[in-house]
Amino acid sequence: MEPVAAMAFDSRTCEYAKYVRFILQLSGYFTTFVFKLIHTAMYKDFQAYLQKELNDIKEAGLYKEERVIVSPQGPEITLQDGTKALNFCANNYLGLADSKELVKAAKEAMDTHGYGMASVRFICGTGDLQKTLEAKIAEFFGTEDTILYAACFDANGGVFEPLLNDQDAIISDSLNHASIIDGVRLCKAKRYRYANANMEELEKCLQEAQAQRHRIIVTDGVFSMDGNVCPLDKIHALAEKYNAMVMVDESHSAGVVGKTGRGVTERYNLRGQIEIITGTLGKAFGGSVGGFTTGKKEIIAMLRQRSRPYLFSNSIPPMIAAAGIRMFDMMKESNELQDRLHENTEYFIGKMKAAGFDIKPTESAICAVMLYDAKLSQEMAARLQDEGIFVTGFYYPVVPKDQARIRVQVSAGHKKEHLDRCVAAFTKIGKELGILK
Ligand SMILES: *Cc1c(COP(=O)(O)O)cnc(C)c1O
Repeated sequence: MEPVAAMAFDSRTCEYAKYVRFILQLSGYFTTFVFKLIHTAMYKDFQAYLQKELNDIKEAGLYKEERVIVSPQGPEITLQDGTKALNFCANNYLGLADSKELVKAAKEAMDTHGYGMASVRFICGTGDLQKTLEAKIAEFFGTEDTILYAACFDANGGVFEPLLNDQDAIISDSLNHASIIDGVRLCKAKRYRYANANMEELEKCLQEAQAQRHRIIVTDGVFSMDGNVCPLDKIHALAEKYNAMVMVDESHSAGVVGKTGRGVTERYNLRGQIEIITGTLGKAFGGSVGGFTTGKKEIIAMLRQRSRPYLFSNSIPPMIAAAGIRMFDMMKESNELQDRLHENTEYFIGKMKAAGFDIKPTESAICAVMLYDAKLSQEMAARLQDEGIFVTGFYYPVVPKDQARIRVQVSAGHKKEHLDRCVAAFTKIGKELGILK
């Protein structure tokens, strides 16, 4: 080819290529624009759907607002608008959420062990503090071994699937916590459900479940809406009779139930005899985060191999582990907090009953003040907040229809004066709303 002709051809090609590039770019912009349009339209549909659903929740009076606290969590709190309130709706049973000792232990651990682990446990997220905390939890409950999780929600979510399959059976109390329900859903075992603490129904379930290979009965230690303790003695006896294992979630009972707060296994003299216990560090045990499963060592060993929230989620940070260790040491050194909690609960419930309130039978630090009417429960809670008492009213579907109530949670951190002020406010509003004569 002649050099000149080649050049002419090249420049023509260049022009052509530029043109093609321009067209391609334009069509690219156009396609993006069209996709954006479609996408925007798609979100518009979904947005409208969400707005309607949210409105329905609001209209049903079920929309949950967050009340912002600006002080540490404790018996007396400060809200964002500067008002102070006595707090009677925290799970802060032992009053440890603002404990100076736990804050100190957490700070010291940050100096010696840093801030985070940046790993799951089996890669490089296991520190000496996490191991020590696991041992302390096992010692506290009289069990063989413990595995930590980021939350008890994860402990319950990751306990069934690794241990049981479609040949097995899970028999669950109807009032068990949402995380147990979700955990059961993730597992292929056959499911049975019995009415809350109903031992005849449990026995029927156990009889039916004889067809399965392994059986486990699952129950909350304390049921959070009523405050009743599960009948673990009877559950354990039925488990023996029908060759089943037992799992107890001690989230609301650990630190609370039993003379030394060791939970329902202490209350029923069954320490070391329950296969699986789950619990949280987010309630009585300091109110921070963290969950655990503790029990038979082979079970814990299998969970370390196969439990998904353990294998695929970060290790709890050293400061949480260190504060947890300090907390279990404190409980070993003295029974003061548990004693004070028991005294406070007995005192408060006695006063509320004497004032004429209808209180659900309870053996925990949960006191359900029955109002039955949903609207009344909301009005009463709002009026109590005006009086500086922080409580929550619960109604359907959180509790059964026509079983609306205000749940009061007593803490070792409450002083007698706090309890008296709470009872006085309840009495005043109770009279104004015609609940009390
Ligand atoms: C609070 C609670 C949980 C969840 O605990 P977290 O550590 O906050 O996830 C699980 N089970 C029961 C019975 C609870 O009350």
